[in-house]
Amino acid sequence: MNKTIIVWIRKDFRLVDNPALFHAAKEGMVVPVYIHDDYEESSMGSASKWWLHHALNDFKTSIKKIEGTLIVQKGNPKDVLQKLLHETNAQDIYWNSRYEPHALKRDKELQAFFSEQQINIRTFEGFLLHEPWKITKENGDPYKVFTAYYKASQKHSVSSAVKKVTSIQASSKPVESLSVSDLDLLPSIPWDETIKSTWEATEKGAIDVFKTFLKNKLLHYEKGRDFPAEALNSFLSPYLATGQLSARVLYHYLRTKAEKVGSDAFEQQAEMFIRQLIWRDFAYQLLYHFPHTTTEPLNEKFKQFQWADGNEELQAWKNGKTGYPLVDAGMRELWETGFMHNRVRMVAASFLVKHLLIHWKHGANWFFDTLVDADLANNTMGWQWVAGSGADAAPYFRIFNPITQSEKFDKEGEYIKKWLPELKDIPSSYIHKPWEAPADVLEKANVTLNKTYPAPIVDHKAARERALEHYQHIK
Ligand SMILES: Cc1cc2nc3c(=O)[nH]c(=O)nc-3n(C[C@H](O)[C@H](O)[C@H](O)COP(=O)(O)OP(=O)(O)OC[C@H]3O[C@@H](n4cnc5c(N)ncnc54)[C@H](O)[C@@H]3O)c2cc1C
Repeated sequence: MNKTIIVWIRKDFRLVDNPALFHAAKEGMVVPVYIHDDYEESSMGSASKWWLHHALNDFKTSIKKIEGTLIVQKGNPKDVLQKLLHETNAQDIYWNSRYEPHALKRDKELQAFFSEQQINIRTFEGFLLHEPWKITKENGDPYKVFTAYYKASQKHSVSSAVKKVTSIQASSKPVESLSVSDLDLLPSIPWDETIKSTWEATEKGAIDVFKTFLKNKLLHYEKGRDFPAEALNSFLSPYLATGQLSARVLYHYLRTKAEKVGSDAFEQQAEMFIRQLIWRDFAYQLLYHFPHTTTEPLNEKFKQFQWADGNEELQAWKNGKTGYPLVDAGMRELWETGFMHNRVRMVAASFLVKHLLIHWKHGANWFFDTLVDADLANNTMGWQWVAGSGADAAPYFRIFNPITQSEKFDKEGEYIKKWLPELKDIPSSYIHKPWEAPADVLEKANVTLNKTYPAPIVDHKAARERALEHYQHIK
C-alpha cells in the first residue's frame, strides 16, 4: 500500500458503486479531489449548482467518516492535478468516465498529457448501464429509434457494481483545500429555501428515495407514472444526474429482487422502470454520436424552421402565466422545487415549441438552469423529441393539447391546484379551462381573469393551425 492514487471526483459523489474510489482504496493511499473548472462554472445551471453545493458537503462528510479527506479545488484540471501529483508524490490518477462532448475531449487530452509523463491513468465505467458506444446496429451505425435500441440492449450484460467503500488510507502529505462555500455555488435568490424543503441532496437521501419508491410505488409504476398528482414516479433523476446514485446498482438490485420475489407483477413493473434507465442510456448514446444536437436539430430539415421571436410569451411561459393551468402548474413546480413531472414536461415543452413557436433551445436553456436533474443528454433528447426534430421524435403534426392532456392526466385538477393556489376554488369541471367558466363561478372562486390568473396567451385552435402551417413549410 505504498503508492498514492489521486481519485478525480466528478459526477460520482457516492461511496456505493464508485469504481474509481473502490479500486484506488484497494491499491494504495487515496487523495480524492473535486476540481471546479471554468467549464463547470459556465455550463452548469443554477439548480445544479445548488445541488452540487450540498452533494459536495455530503460527500466530504462521507469521505471523512472513512478516514479520508476530500480536497476541493478551483481551476484548470491539468494544473490542479499536476500540482497535486507533485505535492503527494502520486503516480496514478483514477476517474470514472463522463460523456458530455466537452468532458470527453478534455479527458482524452488529459489522458494523453499525463500518460506522456509516465503517470498511470485509469478510467472506469459506472455512470450508465451501457457505455454510449457499445450498442450499435450491425453495420456500426447508432440507433435512432428507442425500441430497437432497447431490444438490442437486452443482448448485452450490465457490468457488476462494486461494493461500498468503507475505509480508505489517506495520504500522509498535507494538501491544501478550499471549503465548499469558497466555490460560491449557492444562488443569491431565496429560491434556495424552497428547493431545500423538497430535496435531501445526499447519498443517503438517494437511498431513502429509492426505498420509498420500492415500498410504496413500484407496483403501480407503469399506470401511475403518467399522473402528476399521484407522484408514483421515482424522483431519482437528480441523484442519477449528479452521480449520487448508480444506475447499475438499481438495475442489479431490481433484477435480483424480481427473481427472489418470483411475482410477474413485480418483474413487469421493475422492467418498466429499467426501461426508463435505458432511455437515459439512449440519450447518452445520441449525445455521443451526435454531439451537435445540444444546439442543432438532429433532423436537418428543421434548420429552416421559422421560429417566432416571442420574448413576452417566453417570459409568460417561464413565469407559469400562459393561462393554460397544466402548463402553468408545471412551470411553477419547476421554479419552486427544481423538478417537473415527466408528463407535464412534455406538455409544457410542447406548448412553448408548438403553441408559441419559440425555439426549443430557449426552453432547454430554462430547464437546464432550473432543473435539479439538469442533464445535457436527457434534456437535449427530451426537447428535440418534443420539437419533432430529434431521434424517435413525436411527429410534428401531433400537437399536445394542453386542455385534453390536463383532463386526462389531472382529472380533478389536484396537481394544478397544488401549484396554482389562485385556482384552488375553481370546480374541477372548469379547472382545465377557467376562461370558459361562467362569471358567477369565477366570482365565487375569487378568480378575475387577467388579474388573479391570466387569460390564455394564445388560442389553442389558432395556435395549432399556425404550428401545422409552419410544419408544412419544412415538410
Ligand atoms: C423536455 C424534457 C426535458 C427533460 N430534461 C431532463 C433532464 O434535464 N434531466 C433528466 O434526468 N431528465 C429529463 N427529462 C426526462 C424525464 O422527464 C425525467 O428523467 C423524469 O421526469 C425524472 O423523474 P423520475 O426520476 O421520477 O423518473 P422515473 O420515471 O422514475 O424514471 C427513472 C429514471 O429514468 C430516467 N428517465 C426517465 N424518463 C426518461 C426520459 N424520458 N429520458 C431520459 N431518461 C429518463 C431518469 O434518470 C429517471 O430518474 C426531460 C424530459 C422532457 C420531455
